[in-house]
Amino acid sequence: MVEAAPHAAPCVAVFGTDGGSPFVLVSDHAGQAIPPDLGDLGLSAAERARHIGWDIGIDGVGRALSQKLQCVLIEQVYSRLVIDSNRAPGHPTSIVEQSDGTVVPANTGLSAAQRAQRENTILHPYHARITQELDQRLQARRPTVVVALHSFTPQMKGVARPWHVGLLHNHDDRLARILIDLLRQEGLCVGDNEPYALTNTSDYTIPKHGEQRGLPHVEIEIRQDLITQPAGQQEWADRLARLLPLAWAEFCRQHGGAPSSPSTCQTEAAL
Ligand SMILES: [Zn+2]
Repeated sequence: MVEAAPHAAPCVAVFGTDGGSPFVLVSDHAGQAIPPDLGDLGLSAAERARHIGWDIGIDGVGRALSQKLQCVLIEQVYSRLVIDSNRAPGHPTSIVEQSDGTVVPANTGLSAAQRAQRENTILHPYHARITQELDQRLQARRPTVVVALHSFTPQMKGVARPWHVGLLHNHDDRLARILIDLLRQEGLCVGDNEPYALTNTSDYTIPKHGEQRGLPHVEIEIRQDLITQPAGQQEWADRLARLLPLAWAEFCRQHGGAPSSPSTCQTEAAL
């Protein structure tokens, strides 16, 4: 099997215009593309459209949110079934041989070279683009908050998940705690490290770009049935566009500085 060729389409899509916002949005699982050389991965269109292939609805939320916040959104274009951009290279679930009961024929028995090619053409360029964005901002001494956007399936292995939204955190829960409180004040059922917990090994994007760089960050998971349709996507974009700036203002109040005095808040946040 021939892997993704170097001439394949770019793996990164950038949305939104930076209007001075502290937020940088990243969406590891927004894409559904498959490199032409991999065909359909051996899966039906219905299987590829399931939650195993992408984070349903998060593209609409993220793009609307980037407009409302006037910030940049960096999306991975390729399906997580090709390679998962929220897993470290070589992680057992980086390139899944099966997911939620579905065997992925194009992912079985890959050679080290085939894996490396997916990493080099899809995973690494995506994260390099995020790094570039963050580097530029920090060189300009701008306050920078990494917001990772995801969605989760309402049911897993027959068990219903009650949370409307989940906030995932690990070594630095400061911004997540504030946003959890704000979302709960909306009357929502908010998961605190549910339906997943953020860890050094199960995640890659926030550990790499948020924790290791000492940047304030939050990882948001929205239940997919709430954002399958455009109306729900707009509703959640509106909500997050309202609450994220409030959360950041409260973060700066608690930890020093203010949104309007970036160097003070950035210095504190980097501790
Ligand atoms: Zn995801």
